[in-house]
Amino acid sequence: MRDRCARNITYLRLSVTDLCSLRCRYCMPADGVSKRDHRDVCSVEELAEITRAAVDCGIRKVRLTGGEPLVRRGILMICQGISAIGGVEELCLTTNGVALSQLAGPLKEAGVDRLNVSLDTLRPDRFAYMTRVGRLDDVFRGLKAAEKAGFTGTKLNVVLMKDFNDDEISDFVDLTRQYPVEVRFIELMPIGEGRNAQFLPARAVLDACPDLFPAETSGVARRYRPPGGPGLVGLIEPMSHRFCADCDRIRVTADGKLKPCLHSDQEIPLRGLHGEALRRAIQDGIAAKPERHHMNETGRSEAGRSMHQIGG
Ligand code: SAM
Ligand code: SF4
Repeated sequence: MRDRCARNITYLRLSVTDLCSLRCRYCMPADGVSKRDHRDVCSVEELAEITRAAVDCGIRKVRLTGGEPLVRRGILMICQGISAIGGVEELCLTTNGVALSQLAGPLKEAGVDRLNVSLDTLRPDRFAYMTRVGRLDDVFRGLKAAEKAGFTGTKLNVVLMKDFNDDEISDFVDLTRQYPVEVRFIELMPIGEGRNAQFLPARAVLDACPDLFPAETSGVARRYRPPGGPGLVGLIEPMSHRFCADCDRIRVTADGKLKPCLHSDQEIPLRGLHGEALRRAIQDGIAAKPERHHMNETGRSEAGRSMHQIGG
C-alpha cells in the first residue's frame, strides 16, 4: 500500500520483546528493564494475526526484532508461524548474536531467511564495557553457528560512536575485504539512551577507507565495495542524509502498537482488533506515516520510547 507521500510500504519490523540479554549503553538503562506481565506483550497468535493483516495491506518482508528477539519465549514458534504466512517473501531477524550458537540451526528450520547481527566492536574489553554484561566470544561463536546452519548474506550492524569504535572502522572494513559479508555502519540516533553517546557521521568510514568505491544502493543503505574484496560496506545515515523519502517500513512494538515512523510519538493500538478492523487500523497507520523526521533540526527523536522498547 502507498502512503500519502506515494511511498510503497512493504516492510514490517515486528518487535517480539523489549527485554534483552545485553545492556548496551546507548540503548538500555544500566539496570535493564523490568519484565512485564506476559499478558502485556503480543502472544504468538497475535503476532501472526497482525502479520497476516499487514500482508493483506501490502507487507512482503518481515523483520523480527526487540529488545533481543532470541530471549523471547516461543521465538521458534513465532518464526514458524510467520514464515508460513503466504505473502511473506522474506523473514529476517536482528539479533545481538549472544544466543545464536544454540539457536541458529533451529531458526533456519523455523523459516528465518536472513540474519543481521549487531556488533559494535571487535575487541573483547570494549564489548564487555559497551554491553555491560556481554562476552564477545559468544557472538563470534554465534556467527560461526549461523554460517554452519546455512545462513548466507548475514549482515553485521555497527553503530558508529566517536571515542568508542572510530579507531576500528578499518578493522571492520577489512572483514569485507576477506569475507562475503556486509558490514553496515549505522549513525547513532538521539533516541533514549542514545543521547548519551557520541555521534560520528558515517562519512568517517569513507575518510578512513578512501579506496572503497560505490556499489548499488539497497533500501536505506548507501553501499560501497572494497577493491577485490568479496564483501560490501553499507552506510545507514539517518542523521547526515535523511532517507525518509525512501522509507518503506512500519513498526509494531511488542505491546502491539503500530508506529508509522520510528521517530514520531504516533502509536496506533492493534491489540484486540481482528479482521477488517485490524486491517483498517494498519491502513490508517500507513496513511498517517509522517513525511520525515525532524532529528536533524531538533537534535532529538520525538519517539517517546527507547530503541529497545520500540524495536530497532
Ligand atoms: N537486540 C538486537 C540487536 O542488538 O541487534 C535487536 C534490537 S536493537 C534495538 C536493533 C539495532 O538498533 C541494533 O543494531 C542496535 O545497535 C541499534 N540501535 C540501538 N540504539 C540505537 C541508537 N540510538 N542509534 C542507532 N542505532 C541504535
Ligand atoms: Fe539489547 Fe540490542 Fe539494545 Fe544492545 S542494542 S541493549 S543488544 S536491544
